[in-house]
Amino acid sequence: MLRSNSFRQKRALCQLRSFSSLLKSHAYINGKWVEAGNKDMFNVINPANGNVVGIVPNMDVNDAVRAVSAAKKALNNSEWHSFTAKDRSDLLKKWFYLIKQNADEISSIMTTESGKPISEARGEVTYGNAFLEWFAEQARRIYGEVIPSPIKNREIVVLKQPLGVAALITPWNFPLAMITRKTGAALAAGCTIVMKPAEDTPLTALALVKLAEEAGFPDGVVNIITTNKAAPIGDYFCKSLDVNGISFTGSTEVGKLLFRNSSGGIKRISLELGGNAPFIVFKSANLENAVEAAVSCKFRNCGQTCISANRFFLQHEIHDEFIELFKQRVAALKVGDGSKPGVQIGPLINTTQFNKVCTYVEDARLKCAKVILGGKALNELGELFYSPTIITNVPSSAKLYTEEIFGPVASIIKFKTEPEVIKAANDTRRGLAGYFFSEDIQQVFRVAKLLELGMVGVNEGLISAAEAPFGGVKESGIGREGCHHGIDEYVEVKYICFGNLKY
Ligand code: ADP
Repeated sequence: MLRSNSFRQKRALCQLRSFSSLLKSHAYINGKWVEAGNKDMFNVINPANGNVVGIVPNMDVNDAVRAVSAAKKALNNSEWHSFTAKDRSDLLKKWFYLIKQNADEISSIMTTESGKPISEARGEVTYGNAFLEWFAEQARRIYGEVIPSPIKNREIVVLKQPLGVAALITPWNFPLAMITRKTGAALAAGCTIVMKPAEDTPLTALALVKLAEEAGFPDGVVNIITTNKAAPIGDYFCKSLDVNGISFTGSTEVGKLLFRNSSGGIKRISLELGGNAPFIVFKSANLENAVEAAVSCKFRNCGQTCISANRFFLQHEIHDEFIELFKQRVAALKVGDGSKPGVQIGPLINTTQFNKVCTYVEDARLKCAKVILGGKALNELGELFYSPTIITNVPSSAKLYTEEIFGPVASIIKFKTEPEVIKAANDTRRGLAGYFFSEDIQQVFRVAKLLELGMVGVNEGLISAAEAPFGGVKESGIGREGCHHGIDEYVEVKYICFGNLKY
C-alpha cells in the first residue's frame, strides 16, 4: 500500500465503522480478527459512484497457510470433533437467526459494494439465509447405511464422515448466497472452512462471519481471508495436503485452472461455473408469463448471474408479438444507484465487466444484429451504467451468442422448428440452466429431457431454492449445491466391513 494513501484510508475507515457494526476491516482466522501478515490492505469500491466503502486486508499465501492450519487444528480439536449433528444444527440455526435479525444492515452493505438494487439485496438475504436454515435441518439427516451382506456372519456398514478442511472461493454477484450455500453444507457435514470471497464484495462475507462469531462457532472452525491477489492463494489451496476439498463458484477459466491444479493430489473439487442459458418461447406459450419471466430472468442483478437467460429463442409465429411486449417492459425499467428507492437496474460491477458488455454489443452490431432498445452506456448516471438492451437477429457467430454476456443485454434469435431450437440450445460447451415456455404437455416433457442442462425452468424464469439441486453439466461444473445433494460435496463415504460375527 502506498504511504500517501494511508491517512485517507484510515479516515474513511473511521467513517465507515460508525455506519455499521457489521462493517469489518479485518479478516478472521482462528477466532481472531486479524490484519494481513504484511499489513497490506485494499479498498472496496461502490460501483454506483466509485466511492471507497471499505478497506480490508490484502492477504497472501502466508495468511492462507495460517487460516488452513487453524482450520486443520480445529478439525481435530476435541471441541468441534465432539459436536453432535444436533449441536452443529443448533449453531447453524443460531447463525441463521442472527442474519435474519440483521437483514437490513447486511442488505445495505451488499448494495453498497455490489451495486445491486436494495430490494434485490433484501431478497438475496432471505434466499441466501435459507441455505443455513436448510443445512441446519439437513445436518441431522446425514445418514449412513447398513447394507445386506452376501456373505454369512458379515455386516456392511456405511458411514458418512466430514471431508476435512474445505476451501471455499466465491464470486461477487451473490455476495451472501454463494457463501451460505457452501458454508451451510460444509459446516453441517462437520468440516472446518476457509473462505476466500471475491475482491469486489468482501464486506458482506465479513459481516456474515461477524455473526458466525456471535453464534459461537469454536475457534478455527470458520475462517475468512480477503485478498485482491487470488491466484497464488488458489494455487496453494489446490496443492496443500492440508486442504481436503475446494468448492469454487466463478468463471469457467478459473474453474478449469483449479481443476487442473488440484489433480496432483486428486483433491475433491466442486465447481459452479458459467452458463449460456437458452430461453425458448414456443408458439403455444402463454406470452404474458413468458415476457414477465424473461424480464426477471434476464435483468435481475443487471444480468450478472450465471443462470441469466443469455440467448432468447423465439418461435417465428410469436416472435414479433413477444418482442413488442418485452420491449415495453424493458424500456420501463428504472436504472440508477441501487440504494435509491424504485431502482431496478444498478451498475455493472467493475470496469472489466462494463468493457466486456460494450465490446460484445459492438461485435453483434458489426455482425448485422439489430439493436432495438438501449445499446449504449449511461454516462450521465456514472461510469459503470449500461442501458437495458434488446438486440434481435443475433447470429451464431456473435460473442453474445457464444459467450456469457453477464450484463443487461437480451439477445434474440428467431427459430422455426423444435428440433432446430434444441440443436441450437445445446450447441455450446456450457450446460448450467435453461428455460422454455410451452403449454403443450407432450412438448414439455420431450424438450425438458433433451436439453443438455443441469437445471431447466418450464414456464418459469426464477428457479433457485435452497431445497433444489443447483449445478451444471458439460463445462458448467461438477457437483451440486443446495438440496440434500449439497452435503455430498463435503462428506467421505466410508465402508466398514464387520466380519466373523457370531450369530
Ligand atoms: P469473475 O470473472 O466473475 O470475477 P472469477 O472466476 O475471476 O470470476 O472470480 C471468482 C472468484 O475466484 C473470486 O473470488 C476471485 O477472487 C477468485 N479467483 C480469481 N482467480 C483465481 C485463481 N487463479 N485462483 C483462485 N481463485 C481465483
